Amino acid sequence: AQLANQIAAGEVVERPASVVKELVENSLDAGADQIDIEIEKGGHKRILIRDNGKGIARDELGLALSRHATSKIGTLDDLECIVSLGFRGEALASVSSVARLILTSRPPNQSEAWQARAEGRDMAVDIQPAAHPVGTTVDVVDLFYNTPARRKFLRTEKTEFQHIDEVLRRIALSRFDVAFSLKHNGKVLRRFPRCNSEDTRLKRVATIAGNEFAQQALVIHSDYQSLKLDGWLLPPQLARAQNDGQYVYVNGRMMRDKLIYHAIRQAFEGLVDEQRYPAFVLFLSLDADQVDVNVHPAKHEVRFHQARLVHDFIYRALDDVLQHNLT
Ligand code: ADP
Ligand code: MG
Repeated sequence: AQLANQIAAGEVVERPASVVKELVENSLDAGADQIDIEIEKGGHKRILIRDNGKGIARDELGLALSRHATSKIGTLDDLECIVSLGFRGEALASVSSVARLILTSRPPNQSEAWQARAEGRDMAVDIQPAAHPVGTTVDVVDLFYNTPARRKFLRTEKTEFQHIDEVLRRIALSRFDVAFSLKHNGKVLRRFPRCNSEDTRLKRVATIAGNEFAQQALVIHSDYQSLKLDGWLLPPQLARAQNDGQYVYVNGRMMRDKLIYHAIRQAFEGLVDEQRYPAFVLFLSLDADQVDVNVHPAKHEVRFHQARLVHDFIYRALDDVLQHNLT
């Protein structure tokens, strides 16, 4: 079991930031609206994620740590229509095969918390009572302690932390309704309060994508049948400085999808010189059964059932706004 898990870990757990991404997605899937992240030494030493989500019952703790155990997909039909961020049941098993992982949790209907850790080669799970409010804490210590080859690929503490920060920025942009905090070596470096107004949302956008972006970007808001595109777009000619943020979400999931980038480039054709890039934060939403997210292990890419339609919809939505504001 250990070896199979370590092989799977190669796909999911590339570096500390990928652990943070998987664990925060689990917290979001659990319905948390407060997620606190504590990092030590760029994540080499410790990655701790605490949430106030629905928790994991005592009897399910061992299962949560085992491979291909997911509570999110019950049938093959569900695979056609994925609404949760996770669905492979691999993250916790993978992480616990390459680090010391302690899972502590309490669901609302359980009077005390329980703590589980996977131990030894056979990953037997040891379960103990613990103190914890409703929600879950995942504590990942000594990442890659047992896979020296992997550890060698880790960059400096500072670089790994920057990757973690970028993961948080991307996720924070997709969930304005959730509060996040991020600590590094005991110091709070980011605090995103919950946003309950357009004003507070723009404030978060300004923190993440920059003040100029938040003030100057064109608002995108378009729909066609079940397709919806919302967000902000800053053409370089409306900006003084180069704005680098390029954030794309499909049904709340962050993406680097080729088709979408192609549509964006096409909308800008002839409108920007090659030296400067547009910045954007775009949210595409469509029916979950119109998109296949089960394509890429890290889930960066999707497959649209009606690719042409999606492409042209995005192109038109952006082209409309650009023609209107730039010519
Ligand atoms: P997946 O997210 O693909 O289902 P994971 O290995 O990431 O697989 O998690 C396994 C299971 O553990 C999840 O399906 C869920 O039931 C449970 N779980 C993990 N993290 C949390 C959390 N923060 N809160 C509640 N349940 C969790
Ligand atoms: Mg998961």
